[in-house]
Amino acid sequence: KLYNQVQDLKGSIRVYCRVRPFLPGQTSVLTTVDQIEESTISIATPSKYGKEGRKSFTFNKVFGPSASQEAVFADTQPLIRSVLDGYNVCIFAYGQTGSGKTFTMMGPNELTEESLGVNYRALSDLFHLSKIRNSSQDGINVPEATLVPVSTTSDVICLMNLGQKNRAVSATAMNDRSSRSHSCLTVHVQGRDLTSGATLRGSMHLVDLAGSERVDKSEVTGDRLKEAQHINKSLSALGDVIASLSQKNNHIPYRNSKLTQLLQDALGGQAKTLMFIHISPELDALGETLSTLKFAERVA
Ligand code: ADP
Ligand code: MG
Repeated sequence: KLYNQVQDLKGSIRVYCRVRPFLPGQTSVLTTVDQIEESTISIATPSKYGKEGRKSFTFNKVFGPSASQEAVFADTQPLIRSVLDGYNVCIFAYGQTGSGKTFTMMGPNELTEESLGVNYRALSDLFHLSKIRNSSQDGINVPEATLVPVSTTSDVICLMNLGQKNRAVSATAMNDRSSRSHSCLTVHVQGRDLTSGATLRGSMHLVDLAGSERVDKSEVTGDRLKEAQHINKSLSALGDVIASLSQKNNHIPYRNSKLTQLLQDALGGQAKTLMFIHISPELDALGETLSTLKFAERVA
């Protein structure tokens, strides 16, 4: 194998939790985050949400508000490299709107070298590690999607920007345009095993999921409500698939949503999955924070 330094310490599914810092201007806001350790996060829960006290959750890794993009990527990089060994790698960003999903995957609006997200770092890593040849290939199974040959990181970034512009647009009071759709960047990589000469095909799917917040039925109606219910359904279907994979069940319920159908090949077999779950630290996000942590606990 080209890069066989990747070790399966805890199976093929891992969950990282990232807590966003308070935003500029949020100076004296109350937080729910009680304590953060290497792989544990404790949330302070007022009595309204059950027993007063704290709830602890354990994941493969927990990143606090001061974790840099570089530090987050350092723990992601081994997964990216296994794409070259022929693995299918899926990285998901999950969390309520405003919790930092896009920050993790892309970075902030004003990008600097230090603030580049996982997408950019993963792509430049792949392009640096392999001698890339331009190629095009059949077999894409997304209706209305286009398969485009690329040869540099900036080719891919141009495509990603185009994709962002195409995301479903429909603003509401609480939702920004990107919170109502999933955004998925897929890269297919074909390589050759230098020892056996066998062809290795790997893929990388980087998915910035739609916001996971529950929508108040009194605030939205009609198509908007249907759309919100559809998003929630696809996220819980994704949770079901990952949970059944991690329990090594015989039946994996891929067919319950379009999202899991599209990612079926990438989520089973020679696959490695990383779920970044994102936490907004504010007290008024507590309800969503707990539901995010429970979702993550189920798939871990
Ligand atoms: P989401 O995609 O989940 O809706 P964003 O990634 O857009 O959330 O983050 C919301 C805001 O918080 C943005 O202004 C973003 O730049 C900022 N932000 C998120 N995570 C971090 C972080 N780790 N460090 C600094 N700012 C962050
Ligand atoms: Mg976003």
